Amino acid sequence: MARILIVEDNEKNRMLLRDILHHHGHEVLEAGDGQEGLDMARQHLPDLIFMDIQMPVMSGLAAGAALKADALTRGIKLVALTSFAMKGDSERILAQGFDQYMSKPLDTRRLPQLVTELLGDL
Ligand SMILES: [Mg+2]
Repeated sequence: MARILIVEDNEKNRMLLRDILHHHGHEVLEAGDGQEGLDMARQHLPDLIFMDIQMPVMSGLAAGAALKADALTRGIKLVALTSFAMKGDSERILAQGFDQYMSKPLDTRRLPQLVTELLGDL
């Protein structure tokens, strides 16, 4: 079982992610924007974060960069959720320190596989 933080401003997407991750036995935490996600990550130190890119208050890219710049949170695996599957964006996201990215609409079968790839069998 992993502790996973979902940072996503779209409630439907958040619910979908939460249901799938719960179904696979993970502990799930949720935040609705980048700043809240950053605060929760520092407080709860999850194993992995699914981070939406386009969010109010603070973007996922900014929040991800802040997490990777901080020794306390640098080791948390980061997966970007992108709705703009334009060429070049994936490189930009990985260059910011994200470990992986998933484009929306989310592939619900890919999701648990990705958790296992990044964390092993917790
Ligand atoms: Mg969004």
